[in-house]
Amino acid sequence: MAITRRDFLIGSGAVVATSAIGSSGGCAGERLPDESYDLCIIGSGFAGTFLGLRALDHGLRTVIVEAGSSPQRGGSPDSLEVSFKFRNSGLQSYPVNGTRAIAVGGASRHWGGVTTRLWPEDFRMKSEFGRLVDWPITFEDLLSYYCEAERLLLTRGFTVVPGAEPTRNCPYPNVKGGDYRDPGIRIEGKDVAYFPLAHSRRGGNFAIRLFDQEIPNFIQSNGATLVENRQVINIVTLDGKTVDYVDLRGPAGRPEKLRAKVFVIAAGVVESCRLLLASRSSWFPDGLGNRHRQLGHYFNVHPSLQTKFDLRPGLDLPQGHHRTCSLNHDYRREGINACQYQLDVLAAGTARWKAQPEIEPNYDNYVTLHGTESDGFGVPIPEIHFGYTAQDQRTLERSYATLEAAKRKLAAAGGTVSDHDRWRAHPAGTCRMGFDETTGVVDRNNRVFGLDNLFVSGACTFPTSGTANPTNTVVAMTLRLADHIHGLVA
Ligand SMILES: Cc1cc2nc3c(=O)[nH]c(=O)nc-3n(C[C@H](O)[C@H](O)[C@H](O)COP(=O)(O)OP(=O)(O)OC[C@H]3O[C@@H](n4cnc5c(N)ncnc54)[C@H](O)[C@@H]3O)c2cc1C
Repeated sequence: MAITRRDFLIGSGAVVATSAIGSSGGCAGERLPDESYDLCIIGSGFAGTFLGLRALDHGLRTVIVEAGSSPQRGGSPDSLEVSFKFRNSGLQSYPVNGTRAIAVGGASRHWGGVTTRLWPEDFRMKSEFGRLVDWPITFEDLLSYYCEAERLLLTRGFTVVPGAEPTRNCPYPNVKGGDYRDPGIRIEGKDVAYFPLAHSRRGGNFAIRLFDQEIPNFIQSNGATLVENRQVINIVTLDGKTVDYVDLRGPAGRPEKLRAKVFVIAAGVVESCRLLLASRSSWFPDGLGNRHRQLGHYFNVHPSLQTKFDLRPGLDLPQGHHRTCSLNHDYRREGINACQYQLDVLAAGTARWKAQPEIEPNYDNYVTLHGTESDGFGVPIPEIHFGYTAQDQRTLERSYATLEAAKRKLAAAGGTVSDHDRWRAHPAGTCRMGFDETTGVVDRNNRVFGLDNLFVSGACTFPTSGTANPTNTVVAMTLRLADHIHGLVA
């Protein structure tokens, strides 16, 4: 249904004045507005919502189509989220549902709010280390967009620790008071530089949830429409060069079409790829952007190891979250993957060491369409094939051993609280950015190779997953994309 700010706010119980809006959306339950937009965005997570807000700033008439529902409608019997299923077929099973939300606001409903930047060398793996690939864009291409992303994400951080964290060209929008105190713990016998983790914070200690403010702001703007509880099932090109419309289905299953000048898929790592794979035609028999069999491949994640323990009495460590990337360069030079280590000094005498290694993007890790199972609209569900390479295994063993040694330095005898939980998050790849269509699905401006007006935004376009939590980079890249689209449509 196309919803207005009034519908959204009344249903969510948000304490914000409802007002007449300039949205082109109708009232709940109405048919979709039969009109053409400048921009149609598929997905209302970080990539979709900030793209939409920025497009409105540029004066583009923008519709966001979202398969999930707003909080007040989520989980209702007619909500589409239950039809989003998947299968795992690789050696490692990937917990898709634990790493996303089919909902208005996407995974912003659950994320932890860590807003780190990638490092300049993350973009230059091939030229610096002779392995993996370089990105078609550089860290410098994103510098100003990182500042804006951090402003939009309401990032709170300490004053900068030069050298310990990636280059900063602007202060944190929200600066914590006081000086930062490095815990000074050596790792693998080396002095390492720690930096305090910056977080998205809207009041108190809560990371921003898009449906609190950003999505209501979008809905109340002139030229904006949010269509929720509608799944895009097909992207249609009539001439093999330009996308004409997308096919949608709502709970009733009635076919609907939506037309726009430009389309952006921002549906998350698994679903963006699934939608491109499922959109087949005589021009693209294997799916859009897949003439060279790149689509779906190089799926990768950040595994996370962690151990929580009681601190040895008498240790004077500064409370907080201390991360170091100092060993990344050495690890890469040695031929294993980078790994970030983090010491969380918690209240009541406990601490936690964490390791978040990079996994190498591997062609044989992929998302594909399941051979026999489909969802309620006849679209094959995604099948995820994921496993670790020998190099990933070596990296995991190294980070495990380093974590153990680091724990022994600080832990009280017999004081382990929990050990080596391992989870996998931060999916990336499947629609990677490439220098040409033999090496990627989208070009350096996120445009799908072979189509004039179809773009993809999100971590699915990352050529490598690098050494940062992804969302700050996702938002920076989506703002850059918005500026590019403005140039095309204006
Ligand atoms: C528990 C948890 C903690 C995390 N913590 C952090 C953190 O601290 N820092 C960090 O950087 N990252 C973190 N992340 C990752 C972060 O949440 C993601 O990087 C980010 O949300 C991705 O945003 P997105 O817009 O690309 O995708 P999503 O948020 O997944 O949004 C995609 C949207 O597309 C919709 N959609 C999918 N298919 C269709 C379709 N066919 N038609 C219409 N709509 C569709 C979905 O419903 C969804 O709303 C965390 C994730 C989780 C789960």
